[in-house]
Amino acid sequence: MIRVTVWNEFLHEQTEEEIRKVYPNGIHECIKEFLQDDEITVRTATLDMPDCGIPEEVLAQTDVLLWWGHARHQDVPDEVVDRVQKHVLQGMGLLVLHSGHHSKIFRRLMGTTCNLKWRDADRERIWTVHPAHPIAKGIPEHFELPQEEMYGEQFDIPTPDDTVFLGWFAGGEVFRSGCTFTRGNGRIFYFQPGHESNPTYKNPVIQKVIRNAVHWLCPEQRIEIPCPNTESLEK
Ligand code: ZN
Repeated sequence: MIRVTVWNEFLHEQTEEEIRKVYPNGIHECIKEFLQDDEITVRTATLDMPDCGIPEEVLAQTDVLLWWGHARHQDVPDEVVDRVQKHVLQGMGLLVLHSGHHSKIFRRLMGTTCNLKWRDADRERIWTVHPAHPIAKGIPEHFELPQEEMYGEQFDIPTPDDTVFLGWFAGGEVFRSGCTFTRGNGRIFYFQPGHESNPTYKNPVIQKVIRNAVHWLCPEQRIEIPCPNTESLEK
């Protein structure tokens, strides 16, 4: 079984009626519902839980962590970010969703501003530009989201290991919508769709991308990276 933890700051769904209509139980519960199957077991965590719902023992039992945040990135304590980073470097997979591009953990792992252009709401056409990648398995050459927040280049990230998806918006902008990175022993995937006011996570193609990503992000093993002072092997 792949052990997944879906983390959500869980703000808009509680404070805005319009968002609650789209995700009545929160984005995290919607993702849990479609992701959980006989190969994947899912728990959820939210910002207002003790330790943000992801204390050491939870992360130690998490193969892949999903991260959705938007308005309360700054409320995630630095010690939680340190802990997540430590687990990613040891091999835990990390899937950063949509506005998670500005989360403390993603910026920490990228080392750049992760800034981008944005505008609410536009039609998006997503192109699969690396069809041989495991995350793209079974995903069409292109598919459309009738309404999604526009995220446009320049996206200030380091050059990805692979760009799997490219987004085009009706306003004319393009965006690297699905990118992979490696940090230490850990795999990272950033996936752009998922603005809270659109039912993006109910789209079966989006669900399939996320499911593929969870399988790809799951580590074979987790290894601490030590820094030992060692004796010479040759005398
Ligand atoms: Zn958004």
